[in-house]
Amino acid sequence: MSDQKTDKCKKCGEEISAHEQVCPSCGEEVSQGFNAKPWIILAIIILVIMEILVGRGPGAETKSEPAVEIVK
Ligand SMILES: [Zn+2]
Repeated sequence: MSDQKTDKCKKCGEEISAHEQVCPSCGEEVSQGFNAKPWIILAIIILVIMEILVGRGPGAETKSEPAVEIVK
C-alpha cells in the first residue's frame, strides 16, 4: 500500500505508519492527525449544547414559571 498515511515523530523525526501510536524508534507517543482528544472535546461540547437546547425546549416550557419573555 503506497497510499498509507504516515506521520513523523516529533521527537526523533522517524516516519511512523498511521496505525502506530508509539514511535518504534524512540518510543515517543505519537499524536496522529486523527487524534482522539478533539473528538472527545467535540462530543462533550455537543452534549452540553444539546442539554442546553433540551433544557430550554418543551421541557422548560412550564406554564407555572414565566421564564419565557415575549418582547414586542
Ligand atoms: Zn521517535
